[in-house]
Amino acid sequence: MTTLREIIAGPAPSFSFEFFPPKTEAGARTLWRTIRRVEALAPAFVSVTYGAGGSSRDRTVALTERIAADTTLRPVAHLTAIGHSVAELRHIVGRYADAGVRDVLALRGDPPGDPNGEWIARPDGLTHAHELVSLVRESGAFTVGVAAFPEDHPRSPDRESDLRNFVAKCRAGADYAITQMFFHTEDYLRMRDRAAAAGCDTPIIPEIMPATDVRQIRRFAELSGAAFPEELAQRLEAARDRPEDGHRIGVDHATRMADRLLAEGAPGLHYITLNRSTAALDIHHHVCSTRSVHAC
Ligand code: FAD
Repeated sequence: MTTLREIIAGPAPSFSFEFFPPKTEAGARTLWRTIRRVEALAPAFVSVTYGAGGSSRDRTVALTERIAADTTLRPVAHLTAIGHSVAELRHIVGRYADAGVRDVLALRGDPPGDPNGEWIARPDGLTHAHELVSLVRESGAFTVGVAAFPEDHPRSPDRESDLRNFVAKCRAGADYAITQMFFHTEDYLRMRDRAAAAGCDTPIIPEIMPATDVRQIRRFAELSGAAFPEELAQRLEAARDRPEDGHRIGVDHATRMADRLLAEGAPGLHYITLNRSTAALDIHHHVCSTRSVHAC
């Protein structure tokens, strides 16, 4: 079977979709409708986020295993080190291997409740994501992804240390990276070029966030530290009571970004779906109508 490393390194850009484990039955029905629509497009992979605490983590593992068992999709399991001992992390990675899941996105995670709260490492756990990259790599034949931050990680004291720490993840064996959401293409290009100049040739896949609802997007941007363009915010604000117009504005903006990113050599596009398919698939169809994206 072709590995994800080989697909991402291949000549055609890949495309992929991100889901989160739903909390309710209704949420699960919405998600599975989306999964089936996405499956028909044969993306390179779909990824499942890992929650900050207890039951949500079990739901991530269960959903990832079900996608592997019941669909033709390749699931990438997000895994965060926070709150786990090394033994627990090894156990989860072992469960994925047993379920035939061979792809892990290795992350440090944020303190539950307040993502900007104090980071306290467990004595029997890990401190940074590069250690989790090594742990997953030592556990078997996994393709391992990591996080990248076009506007720097909010906790990084300066750009140099942010770059140095990203390069450490590449050196630990990251096969690819997926970015945090961002809204200015230049931020991605600058980060990618600086990583390449520092000797890191790990492909960096930009994350595409459809900005269709101004309240929601402002909240996400605040949490992630992404700068949200004021001009786009104002247009969305003006369309606040007309959801179809908000949808069109957000899809247009993301499509233009996606086109430019691919023209500038991005290795693929990773769409945030929020478990609903409409905006992400609209962007994807626009992109596909003009380009040869993997399996479009
Ligand atoms: P790290 O690479 O460890 O970096 C964290 C901070 O520590 C950075 O400031 C870095 O510069 C610094 N650092 C790294 N190494 C060192 C070192 N050796 N010495 C000193 N400082 C160092 N969170 C979730 O909870 N669940 C998810 O599913 C999830 N999915 C994500 C998917 C993507 C694509 C992205 C971009 C983020 C995701 N996150 C998720 C958020 C992520 O967990 C947080 O942003 C977290 O704060 C950073 O994770 P990291 O893996 O980049 O950590």
